[in-house]
Amino acid sequence: MYTRVLRFAPSPNGYLHLGHAYSALLNYDMARESGGRLLLRIEDIDAARCRPEYEAAIYEDLHWLGISWTGPVRRQSEHFADYEAAIAKLDAARLLYASFESRSEINALVAEREREGPWPRDPDGGPLYPGRARKMPLADRERRRRAGEPFALRLAMDAAMARAGVLTWTESGHGPQGQTGLMTATPQRWGDVVLARKELLTSYHLAVVLDDALQGVTEIVRGQDLFWATGVHRLLQALLGLPEPAYHHHRLILDEEGRKLSKATQATSLRELRALGRSAADIRRMVGLGR
Ligand code: GLU
Repeated sequence: MYTRVLRFAPSPNGYLHLGHAYSALLNYDMARESGGRLLLRIEDIDAARCRPEYEAAIYEDLHWLGISWTGPVRRQSEHFADYEAAIAKLDAARLLYASFESRSEINALVAEREREGPWPRDPDGGPLYPGRARKMPLADRERRRRAGEPFALRLAMDAAMARAGVLTWTESGHGPQGQTGLMTATPQRWGDVVLARKELLTSYHLAVVLDDALQGVTEIVRGQDLFWATGVHRLLQALLGLPEPAYHHHRLILDEEGRKLSKATQATSLRELRALGRSAADIRRMVGLGR
């Protein structure tokens, strides 16, 4: 029998807020209503920003909200070998190349390009890669890597898209402009996206795609802020021979000024609301999932 498998995948780099509560409760409700399973994944590849006390707080907050999941919890920091194997596969298919510019060098290059007119930006507002590393002779790239220079491994977007062909996904929620139904993936909006760095041989995009497949996730329910990332995710699924999940992007919970909530806004953290005497039922009502 087909069982729906959903997941909630927070990063332990701060306390959960109302936006996370909405996402977690929606995942939990959707799994329960269809006799499916909810998994929990801890997205902690960024060791500099993730802390064990935030991870402990995630379990505490979810229990308090009345959310249970099917174990075991997958902690990304325990699976670097899986990500490295995927990087090796893309590398062997000649779809990756190393670039060596620092962030400030990239900004300087963009500023230079922008003297001639606006330089293209990705859906998050970041400039597309302006460098020429892809044209650099392979021997030079290899020499610089061997010399221990910091590098980023980028996806050669044109080649990757040519390899994968036209890709679509089924959206049962909504994109930021109300998009729903059958979507055409547009990963080219991200340019030659970084999939790994010297000090971290993975990235959000790579880890999320691989984990969803390894955990057998059939339906990805997450915030609209990740709607455009889905194009990159569909592309990586195709290149790595992974199954295609269904997607449901949900509205974001905004603050009074209409801004996206962030982990920096302590006022809306679940533990703060709890300390102020709010109950789990109050939280459900606050995010519009009251029963
Ligand atoms: N870890 C991501 C976050 O906390 C969510 C990843 C996803 O749902 O694809 O925003």
